[in-house]
Amino acid sequence: MESDPEPNRLLRPMSAAPAPAPAALLAWYDRHRRDLPWRARPGETPDAYRVWLSEIMLQQTTVAAVRPYFERFLARFPTLDSLAAAPSEAVMSAWAGLGYYSRARNLHACAQAVAAAGAFPDTEAELRKLPGIGPYTAGAIAAIAFNRQAAAVDGNVERVLTRLYAVGEPLPGAKGRVRALTEALVPADRPGDFAQALMDLGATICTPKRPACALCPWMRPCRARAEGLQETFPRKAPKSAGALRRGAAFVAVRTGDEAILLRTRPPSGLLGAMAEPPTSEWLPDYDLARALLDAPLEARWQRLPGQVRHVFTHFPLELTVFAARVSKSVAAPDGMRFTPRAALGEEPLPGAMKKVLAHAFAATGLPEPGAAVRPRAGRRREAAPTRASRKGAP
Ligand code: SF4
Repeated sequence: MESDPEPNRLLRPMSAAPAPAPAALLAWYDRHRRDLPWRARPGETPDAYRVWLSEIMLQQTTVAAVRPYFERFLARFPTLDSLAAAPSEAVMSAWAGLGYYSRARNLHACAQAVAAAGAFPDTEAELRKLPGIGPYTAGAIAAIAFNRQAAAVDGNVERVLTRLYAVGEPLPGAKGRVRALTEALVPADRPGDFAQALMDLGATICTPKRPACALCPWMRPCRARAEGLQETFPRKAPKSAGALRRGAAFVAVRTGDEAILLRTRPPSGLLGAMAEPPTSEWLPDYDLARALLDAPLEARWQRLPGQVRHVFTHFPLELTVFAARVSKSVAAPDGMRFTPRAALGEEPLPGAMKKVLAHAFAATGLPEPGAAVRPRAGRRREAAPTRASRKGAP
């Protein structure tokens, strides 16, 4: 590893900085590469299915979070063909918990397209034509799986490059320039290793806070480091947060088999095709006083203390949960179903809806799965009969 002979200098003239050498990063990678379950070891041939699957899972999710999902997903769908042939419910269920469910739908559609074609295409341009594959993922697959001279620019790489070149223009406006800077660095030899080396550098050395510059193979050419301004890059344009949305969720438990009333969300849009207990619309000005008009069926709904909060990419959500027990003779309204408690794990429930169910189980006398019904006095705030307002309610 290179060492800096002048570790305390702060304002080195930029013109004096050496150009970043891909070879220095590759040499560092050869010594410090992470051992990841989807990554080919030295001498092994990368498996395009594993590379593609990991890159889709890693979009906006951490390596630590993806590891167990990746292993389970591969155990369930060991080949691209097995994934392509699986029912969409099975794919969504295996994905549940990773968030961004449009990715799971695109993943399945992509598997079917590739299975029909016989193999993954091996160029960025052809990969871009597949569902769910954008510029970053196309570059990553082309470089890692097929050793193409392609750049894979994600948030980690943007951080490294904006520091390396002290890019003052804020993101996202600077994305084009950062991509061009990255492309100019990708070597003809070992482009796949170079892409993974950049990922590892961003994840382990050039971290958002307190980057370990003394261990960095590009310490000497790094302009931000020379100016002592590492943590001020990348510069970012101010973001406007989405407005808080509110709504009501209804957890109906059927007496006897303790099945839970669920429905499937529309196939496109937020949490598309995922399962959920019925909810109202989610609106900034949702009127909770009228929430029972949104109940899916007639029952003695009990408003539970507290709220369930969840932050989506573009807005935070606050749901007030209503719970009720209904008799076994009550039929599920049109488009809904009662799912036995033991089968809840098979439902593609997104994180927000798992929180709703956990809140209902924990905050009321509704039983935990498999437990006896034991109402807890004093924990219910409100009990009111309601009228069903929807077609199909019994
Ligand atoms: S020297 Fe520091 S800021 Fe510059 S690329 Fe390396 S770790 Fe990042």
